[in-house]
Amino acid sequence: MYAFQKLPQLVDKRGELVHKGEYAKRKNGVNSITTRVWHHSLTKLSAGGSKIESFADFHVRTNGWPGIAYHLIIDPKHVVDGKATIYYCVDISKKSYHVGNSNSIGLGICVIGDYRVDKLSEATIRSIIDLHKALIADGIGKYDKAHSEMPGYSWKACCVFDYNKAFKDVLSDMFPEAKQPDPVPGLYTIQEGDTFWSIALKDG
Ligand SMILES: [Zn+2]
Repeated sequence: MYAFQKLPQLVDKRGELVHKGEYAKRKNGVNSITTRVWHHSLTKLSAGGSKIESFADFHVRTNGWPGIAYHLIIDPKHVVDGKATIYYCVDISKKSYHVGNSNSIGLGICVIGDYRVDKLSEATIRSIIDLHKALIADGIGKYDKAHSEMPGYSWKACCVFDYNKAFKDVLSDMFPEAKQPDPVPGLYTIQEGDTFWSIALKDG
């Protein structure tokens, strides 16, 4: 069993959501995964349909896909012990549909919300960090990319939230009540992995 499956906030939903048949297996199993692809659901947290059952229904009944698009989904609306619930929806050995030509190498991770308007909660960031660390420990994927950073998707407003910033465990940065003194106020050095919007959001 993988480390990510042992996270206390993970709920296994494989096979329990609406599906029609099965996604095909990846050619080389989980070894095919090179990239952890970060998405948001583009549905506002306040909307009734912002839940895994609705996504599964849409992907199967409207899109005609075998099942829900994402392997793993973080749900900010279901918080247990200060952490957002992580639903394990599609077995990672399967090639689900979330990033077109890159489906065979991509692991689909979706955070529920529309981060053009919603904000990442502390509980959500904690689960992003836990999941990211566990996947690295498990050797699942080498790179992290936003959906919009994948070939052919630069037009897509996904995932919008700053996944790199969340990984760096900078909760104190994002939540002022825990803020540490800033040694160099107002100065920001561009780092590897920064994207235009991640820099734009530093002051946001
Ligand atoms: Zn996406």
